[in-house]
Amino acid sequence: MKNFKQIFKEAANKIAGIAAAPGIVIGKVYLYSKEKLEIKDGTVDNIDEAIQNFNEALEKSKKELNKIFSIAKEKMEANRAAIFEAQVMILDDPFLIDNIRDRIINEKKQPEYIVNDEISKYQQLMNKANEEYMSERANDIEDIKNRIIRNLQKKRWQSKITNDIIVVADTLTPADTILLSRSNVKGFVTDHGGITSHAAIISRSLNIPAVVGTHNATKQIKEEDTIIVDGFHGYILINPTEEQTNFFRTKADHLVELQRGLEELKDKPAQTIDGKEITLLANVDVTGEIEIVVTNGAKGIGLYRTEQLLEEFGGFPSEQEQAEVYEKLATRIYPAPLTIRAFDIGGDKFKFFSFAEPNPFLGLRGIRLLLENETLFKTQIKAVLRASKNKNIQLMLPMVTTLGEIRKSLAIISKCKEELRAEKISFDRNIRIGIMIEVPAAAVMSYELAGEVDFVSIGTNDLIQYLMAVDRGNDLVSDLYQEFNPSVVRTVSHIIKETIRANKTISICGEMAADTLAIPLLIGLGMPILSLAPATIPYAKRIIRSISFQKAKKLADDCLACSSEKEITDRLERFFVENSITRTRNII
Ligand code: PEP
Ligand code: MG
Repeated sequence: MKNFKQIFKEAANKIAGIAAAPGIVIGKVYLYSKEKLEIKDGTVDNIDEAIQNFNEALEKSKKELNKIFSIAKEKMEANRAAIFEAQVMILDDPFLIDNIRDRIINEKKQPEYIVNDEISKYQQLMNKANEEYMSERANDIEDIKNRIIRNLQKKRWQSKITNDIIVVADTLTPADTILLSRSNVKGFVTDHGGITSHAAIISRSLNIPAVVGTHNATKQIKEEDTIIVDGFHGYILINPTEEQTNFFRTKADHLVELQRGLEELKDKPAQTIDGKEITLLANVDVTGEIEIVVTNGAKGIGLYRTEQLLEEFGGFPSEQEQAEVYEKLATRIYPAPLTIRAFDIGGDKFKFFSFAEPNPFLGLRGIRLLLENETLFKTQIKAVLRASKNKNIQLMLPMVTTLGEIRKSLAIISKCKEELRAEKISFDRNIRIGIMIEVPAAAVMSYELAGEVDFVSIGTNDLIQYLMAVDRGNDLVSDLYQEFNPSVVRTVSHIIKETIRANKTISICGEMAADTLAIPLLIGLGMPILSLAPATIPYAKRIIRSISFQKAKKLADDCLACSSEKEITDRLERFFVENSITRTRNII
């Protein structure tokens, strides 16, 4: 059976976007477009009438928004519904409203012109902030502006559509999203918007799968097309083939089965039936994902892949730029911890040098590259330190192979601390430093390496690649990429034992942590912390809550005694059947 990666790789009918709300849906398309408002800028003869019109339009807009607010309160959590309360409050803001009234009286211009001009000023200011969050809020204000103008023009607005369709739109305002959801919308796709757009946030709250930021979905998709929306991976397939349809139908059916009861788990502990508590953290690849982290009940961020910033900034961000990003993330999840991984550049990631290395995966990658480029490394360390004032940040070094690399890194970190002290900049003096173990040499030496730092996180994605000598991205050898190969299981067990023996914190942040089949095994091996893609956290929690730690330990012992991948996989599958746990491998 193919997996998601293969299906998307082969698909010629795909559009890629940002996975904004998890889930899979197949359905007919409704292209939602709003009439562009024409704004008259002529003068008015009757000022009293113009003011009267403005007052009426304002009242009508408030009524509409209050109605949306009450629908929102029924459908989602109070803190999310508050978006609409905030919009009503803007309409009550005397400074804004009196200003508009005064300008209508003084300039004798059409109210719609003044409303547009006055509210646009706010939007421009917000857009100038050059931050994704602020420009999304500028979009919310666009909704308020258009609502008043539409009511001034006495135009009706469409909010009811046929049931059970997938809405494809240029952008969606929060109000559109809420109102359309009344018609049982199955999914949302938008050209614009990021993961923090309210349409995305609301989709997540309403559990409607969504892909945003596709750039041109509205150009490529036609009314009545059938599409598949994969809100886990951020892809859309237009008029899918039979193979694609069958693949996603099976996944979607499986998902419905799996999703039953997940919501209730959000605030419950990830605890086995015999009382062993496991910490579930999130892996964050894109800064915007932070909201999903929060809604999925993660206890912190176990891996923040900073290399993504190089794409976002189109190069290396300055110390100040990085510090701002890190501080924002740390503040958003405070007091939960944020684990910032130093740039893991090289290999198949971000191209740093113009020359090609013969074996990039065995070349200047991760900590090796950072140690060769001390200025770059120091810039990042100082940015992390500057953001660490509230003491919920820890720094993690990628691709460590030797003790010498750790010692050199710690010396550079000390130098950075000294320089900041000299600059009188405050930071967390006891910031926790950790390493990733993803190279076999480091795995063998876990005890000694762990002794040098505060924590260790196992990166199974690379560990399997280097242990099995199999390129993690090469389809030709993908059969050999075996996370349940006995050598992998025994190596993971060794790292856990040795790190615990060194009295240091151990966690895992490779994809293995998100494979639900692997979770009982990892827990049985003594892994106390799993860091995984935010959308997979509720699934992991359910598995943990349905197993016994004692039985998981026995399972792990059995697996450690196996001599082939097949034996281990069979043993794990039997565990799920014997304990009546829904078998959930590789759903996402
Ligand atoms: C890993 O190797 O397991 C890991 C988490 O790092 P990345 O996937 O970013 O290489
Ligand atoms: Mg790695």
